[in-house]
Amino acid sequence: MKLDVDVLRYLSKDDFRVLTAVEMGMRNHEIVPSELIDRIACLKHGGTYKVLKNLLKHKLLHHDSSKYDGFRLTYLGYDFLAIKTMVNRGIFTGVGRQIGVGKESDIFEVAKEDGTVLAMKLHRLGRVSFRAVKSKRDYLRHRSSYSWLYLSRLAALKEFAFMKALEEHGFPVPNAVDCNRHCVIMSLVRGYPLVQVKQLPNPDVVFETIIGLVVRMAEHGLIHCDFNEFNIMIDDDEKITMIDFPQMVSVSHRNAKMYFDRDVECIFKFFRKRYNLSFEENEDESDDSEVDSEEVCRPRFSEIKKVSGLLDKKLAASGFTGKDQEDIERFIGEDVQKDSDSDGEGTEDEGYIADSTNESNIKDFGSMCSLRKEEDNPPDREIEHEAVEDTCMERDDKPEDDSSQAGCEHDSEADGQIEYPELTKSLSKQRQRAIQAARGRRKSSTSRTTYSDKGGRSSYKSKIQKQMSSW
Ligand code: ADP
Ligand code: MG
Repeated sequence: MKLDVDVLRYLSKDDFRVLTAVEMGMRNHEIVPSELIDRIACLKHGGTYKVLKNLLKHKLLHHDSSKYDGFRLTYLGYDFLAIKTMVNRGIFTGVGRQIGVGKESDIFEVAKEDGTVLAMKLHRLGRVSFRAVKSKRDYLRHRSSYSWLYLSRLAALKEFAFMKALEEHGFPVPNAVDCNRHCVIMSLVRGYPLVQVKQLPNPDVVFETIIGLVVRMAEHGLIHCDFNEFNIMIDDDEKITMIDFPQMVSVSHRNAKMYFDRDVECIFKFFRKRYNLSFEENEDESDDSEVDSEEVCRPRFSEIKKVSGLLDKKLAASGFTGKDQEDIERFIGEDVQKDSDSDGEGTEDEGYIADSTNESNIKDFGSMCSLRKEEDNPPDREIEHEAVEDTCMERDDKPEDDSSQAGCEHDSEADGQIEYPELTKSLSKQRQRAIQAARGRRKSSTSRTTYSDKGGRSSYKSKIQKQMSSW
């Protein structure tokens, strides 16, 4: 997916305010009614409608008028919210090239102020671009598009929590830097996915290291569940780094043995096929029956001394609840391996678009889009929402008397490129209505015609406040 971060530079505070308002509205609405967005954003004089048009033009929002007139965030809009938050937190200052595309994620290089390059993973659950996964579709067919955002956020949170836990226990994983919405920032792995490596000087040593990792993870109570050549990075010194953790489960999971055996089998299969590794004969086998010669060194789940609890503790500490785990488990990890089924040689470049992360260095960032930190912008979600709440209350308490600027809003058509004439018309109408309301010519309550809102103004207000506090 194209991530044109250039647009980011031209988005104003109001743009982000409205984008955030849509995000908040999506907690309760599949499509957020325009009027609700306007009420949350609380821009003066119908400013929301002008901003909505701009956001639509840049494909940060999707317009839907099938049931009522409203909007939802696109992945791009969600990306921008996350990136903006990260920039405001000082995590990075620029977004560079895309270095990877997983089935349900996009990975970009990002750079810190001092030039350090990190990796940014944007989760995109539901994209399923490489293979249709029926059960996933069935699960979410009747659910709102917010579900995709919600699940992507859970995937990111879970991945971040696991990466941190593994790192703390000395596993070779990227350094988990930060997480916001569906975005995880981690250190850049200087290496290649194993799937791209045709030859290894010491395949047996690498094999043992990798199998050792599966066993050691299980000893720590964890199973990767997608452990294969796509999710194992290797550098020129044959150093291994594991990636991709949203589907991990505890060794106490009901299907733990199956997941463990599957991970092990993937590694055996790959090394046998790719590097012609033959596994030790079982010398103890007295008969000459067709016993699989691998069995001797194949780790058995039942024989591993497991210490469970790490997972639950780490997840709880990250704010990841049991329900989150249930939700995400229903969606990923149950029935498919996201990256495997990879025995075909032809698939080896799938999932990777850059030449090599090894070759990337700071010079590559000539084309990097630098993003400015907005000092006065709220640094994270909670404060953002507080800010929205504050201004909403401000607007509620203040008489809307500043009609002198209302006329300025008429220049909006000058933006040109009217890609959605009907929508533009309807937005303009709504804007006019809002301007009139601001001038006091119209009672604001009469504008509630395009969606049903049973509550009065006060119930509405408490709904928003509840939304914001439960965020
Ligand atoms: P998915 O969950 O969609 O499979 P992955 O986490 O496996 O996503 O990442 C997809 C690809 O992006 C990887 O195969 C790898 O090439 C690249 N990648 C992911 N994380 C990093 C990282 N930290 N450093 C360098 N490359 C990475
Ligand atoms: Mg992967």
